[in-house]
Amino acid sequence: MAQSYLAAGQKFEALWAAQSGNCALCGERMLRNRFAAPHARVWAKQRATYDHIIPRSKGGKDTAENLQLAHARCNKIKGNRI
Ligand SMILES: [Zn+2]
Repeated sequence: MAQSYLAAGQKFEALWAAQSGNCALCGERMLRNRFAAPHARVWAKQRATYDHIIPRSKGGKDTAENLQLAHARCNKIKGNRI
């Protein structure tokens, strides 16, 4: 698993506030929870996930400084690139 998916928590709240709820990769609005999505398929692509700025496979750490929030779909596209 290249990235960990979100649970609620302070780290999430801090990142969400810092990014104003926008995706770090495409800049569009992310979905905060399942109930904000009109359909499960929309949720699957547009939910907020943790993205490692430097991928763990390239030595990136699980620290707040190396994490940002991005859509599940953008995170997937980015893969192991920095
Ligand atoms: Zn995005």
